[in-house]
Amino acid sequence: MKPENQDVVIAGGSISGLLCARELSQNNHNVTILEEHGEIGIPEKCDGLISINALSSLGVIPNKKTIQNKITGARFFSPSGKSIDIDSSNLDIIVLNRKEFDNELSEIAIRNGAQLKKSTSFVKTSYNNSEFLVHSSNNQYKCKYFVDAMGVSSLMKKQKSGVLQAAKYIVEADWFEPNKVDLYFNQLLSPGFFTWVIPINENLAKVGIAGYGINSFNNLDYFLKDKKHNVIKKIACPIIVSGPIQKFVQNNIVSIGDSAAQTKPTTAGGIFSGGLAGLFAGQSLSNSLKTNANLLHIYEQSWRDVFGSDFASTKLFRKIFDNLENNHLDSIFDILSSSSDLQDFIHNSGDFDFHSFTLLKALGLKRLTKLFNIVSSSEIKKLIHN
Ligand SMILES: Cc1cc2nc3c(=O)[nH]c(=O)nc-3n(C[C@H](O)[C@H](O)[C@H](O)COP(=O)(O)OP(=O)(O)OC[C@H]3O[C@@H](n4cnc5c(N)ncnc54)[C@H](O)[C@@H]3O)c2cc1C
Repeated sequence: MKPENQDVVIAGGSISGLLCARELSQNNHNVTILEEHGEIGIPEKCDGLISINALSSLGVIPNKKTIQNKITGARFFSPSGKSIDIDSSNLDIIVLNRKEFDNELSEIAIRNGAQLKKSTSFVKTSYNNSEFLVHSSNNQYKCKYFVDAMGVSSLMKKQKSGVLQAAKYIVEADWFEPNKVDLYFNQLLSPGFFTWVIPINENLAKVGIAGYGINSFNNLDYFLKDKKHNVIKKIACPIIVSGPIQKFVQNNIVSIGDSAAQTKPTTAGGIFSGGLAGLFAGQSLSNSLKTNANLLHIYEQSWRDVFGSDFASTKLFRKIFDNLENNHLDSIFDILSSSSDLQDFIHNSGDFDFHSFTLLKALGLKRLTKLFNIVSSSEIKKLIHN
């Protein structure tokens, strides 16, 4: 079969790939998206927690039916059950139905002229008589650029570390607050991460757990054992906490989103950072096509300008957190809950999208020094000196 001519082929029809396709198609470039599943947004893994600010930076106004819930606060639980309640009502955080959201994005790209090939898997790229070819399960494409937006499966071919196995249930229950996210810290149950409860409404919630070296389904069942619930759906999925890969661009091949580990090292959230990668990559690809010069380094630089230092600092927090024991966590909760200014600071100046600023300012030098007395670590020293 003769290869089809395209400017750009994108493998992966999720947030990063679809936003990249939107940018390219609205600039009248020929773009094809390959999606291995028969439906966009399936299987739905993501919990969809995101701020309205982040969505506006991505240039997306979600449909009402795509918003499942509004979040007004968070409760953090220590291993021994101490809790800190944070009011986040001014941060405009919502819970998206990711399947609906991704479908909306795919419709925009298709309306602009992008071609979406469902049930079509990317196989490989090759050169044939200096022609750059993308091979899929159904066809071959001759194109100028290839975008890898295939998520964690592609990342794991580049690096194995920093990927944690997560288990997630949609549960019917009544023991959570309908507009508050709950985060439970326990280094025995979820080492290096936490258990989360994200309400969809007063009866339904997304409950998940992740951690280094655990059987995530067993531990999630243990977490839920004394909490009355009915499991509606079970999902197994990896999350990424490593921080980004070294290089996003290799010649005319671009990695975006989870395939480049562009998720927050603290929470593994990636809708905003992966989505913005798709947007920046789409713009740089479009400029490269218009000028006939490879300008993809601008995508990499723009992304690192926005997220580079935040992700580097939160990686330090992660290193500290990974080495904490449950008694350390309880002491930290004591320090944090004894200070009323912390709640005021988060309420007035907290930032859902850039965690290092919130964490550093909320802790302040005094509390960081107290933290150093509990767990003496080189990472805390670096934070104090920053
Ligand atoms: C349990 C869980 C909860 C999360 N919750 C949140 C949250 O609340 N907020 C937040 O910001 N982030 C969250 N995230 C992270 C967020 O979901 C990801 O960062 C984001 O979806 C990454 O988008 P992506 O486009 O890079 O990749 P993905 O969403 O992983 O999409 C990759 C796409 O590529 C396709 N694909 C894979 N291989 C091929 C192939 N060979 N050929 C063709 N297509 C292929 C897949 O089918 C998929 O559609 C969560 C992640 C998990 C696992």
